Amino acid sequence: MESGKPCPVQVVLVQKDQHAFELEEKALASILLQEHIRDLDVVVVSVAGAFRKGKSFFLDFMLRYLYIQKEGGSSNWLGDREEPLTGFSWRGGSDPETTGIQIWSEVFTVEKPDGKKVAVVLMDTQGAFDSQSTVKDCATIFALSTMTSSLQLFTEYGRLAMDEIFQKPFQTLMFLVRDWSFPYEYNYGLQGGMSFLEKRLQVKEHQHEEIQNVRNHIHSCFSSVTCFLLPHPGLQVATSPDFDGKLKDIASEFKEQLQTLIPYVLNPANLMEKEINGSKVTCRGLLEYFKAYIKIYQGEDLPHPKSMLQATAEANNLAAAASAKDIYYNNMEEVSGGDKPYLSPDILEEKHCEFKELALDHFKKTKKMGGKDFSLRYQQELEEEIKGLYENFCKHNGSKNVFSTFRIPAVLFTGIVALYIASGLTGVIGLEVVAQLFNCMVGLLLIALLTWGYIRYSGQYRELGGAIDSGAAYVLEQATSHIGNSTQAAVRDAVVGRPSLDKKAQ
Ligand code: GDP
Ligand code: MG
Repeated sequence: MESGKPCPVQVVLVQKDQHAFELEEKALASILLQEHIRDLDVVVVSVAGAFRKGKSFFLDFMLRYLYIQKEGGSSNWLGDREEPLTGFSWRGGSDPETTGIQIWSEVFTVEKPDGKKVAVVLMDTQGAFDSQSTVKDCATIFALSTMTSSLQLFTEYGRLAMDEIFQKPFQTLMFLVRDWSFPYEYNYGLQGGMSFLEKRLQVKEHQHEEIQNVRNHIHSCFSSVTCFLLPHPGLQVATSPDFDGKLKDIASEFKEQLQTLIPYVLNPANLMEKEINGSKVTCRGLLEYFKAYIKIYQGEDLPHPKSMLQATAEANNLAAAASAKDIYYNNMEEVSGGDKPYLSPDILEEKHCEFKELALDHFKKTKKMGGKDFSLRYQQELEEEIKGLYENFCKHNGSKNVFSTFRIPAVLFTGIVALYIASGLTGVIGLEVVAQLFNCMVGLLLIALLTWGYIRYSGQYRELGGAIDSGAAYVLEQATSHIGNSTQAAVRDAVVGRPSLDKKAQ
């Protein structure tokens, strides 16, 4: 997918007959863990609303805008009159293909006015409100998209879909009223929308208590609530079966309003990073939130606020641990990665301690929910993982040691030289038979050395190579144990506590 054309990717799937939710974790990870964006704070723009409300259609215009911006920007971003509209598939007929959440496979990097780079993810909720889906499915898809997005555009024809909005403390909500047909009452656009919203948010005595509640709470649930009134896009768009999204078939009033709305929503100055519990969320963090939130929705009932809190706490601990682990790994790679030369084990350990501290510091400093004790578990897991990484770095570093590579041929070579001298000496003093024997052994060792060289070079007959290795290692061990017996024993005693005594005691 990374190499192919960008496309919509299903990340949450609803199994209709079982009403079960599934996270396509691999697909989501391959998008959110791309190296160039995974540590950037993320802006998630999602479009939600009932089935066939022009959500995908609208998202495709956002895509056009983002692609033009990526190439340097132009006021003519709406595109060519004759160009069909592509991207998220829209118009799907009366049968929604897959229910769930899709995101665009390309994550856009946008620079905000202060120079900070953010990652922009576009999210579509697909066919969620059709007749086959139960209320719970719809509610879940909607809640998931609210919880994971920083801006949610809620779209509905001709009215404010206020009563569908759940009461949860989330970020920015924009009502997108489509087919607005009373421009003489409230103008198209943001201004008209805001006046319309204000009017509708007034609580009246005769309203049902529940309706009053939504109106009272909506501002405390979302940090910003706005409304935009879009005109009808024209009969071609709404009814023609041949319409394929060409600009020339879309009402100019509609295009005019798109020209205001989309740059307003996606203007780098207006892009809001996703925040949870007051901290900004990175792409990597977003993946953890998805994993945590989907888990609580897999139960039978709608989730309890407490389990939601728990899931959030779990997700932000996991995200903090993952980026701390990255800090450790990247720093260690820097000093002893694949192409770096051999490092003395002491220095490697020193670096390990330094970077481990750095990583743990990062973990501790990241804002997390759930309290100290809760985090401790994740910290311990992180320490375990770092330990595992360190062991691998040690092994890898060891294999780079020239002496360890040439230990075997050195043993063989020393053997050859020693036997050769011995055969010479024995020849001089007249022990011809012994000298011949030594000569034979020299020949055998020479063959072993050549064979070893060939095996190392070609990578074939590895069992034979292993036998030569272990034979030479045995000889080396015997030799060193005889030579340095006393010093080695002293060191071993100090380190492992007198195994020789233990053996005797047994
Ligand atoms: P989704 O199910 O919400 O993603 O809806 P789609 O984007 O697939 O669009 C469904 C149909 O609505 C398509 O045939 C579009 O041509 C049409 N459509 C798109 N935008 C509008 C709009 O603003 N008003 C009306 N009446 N139809 C629209
Ligand atoms: Mg759609």
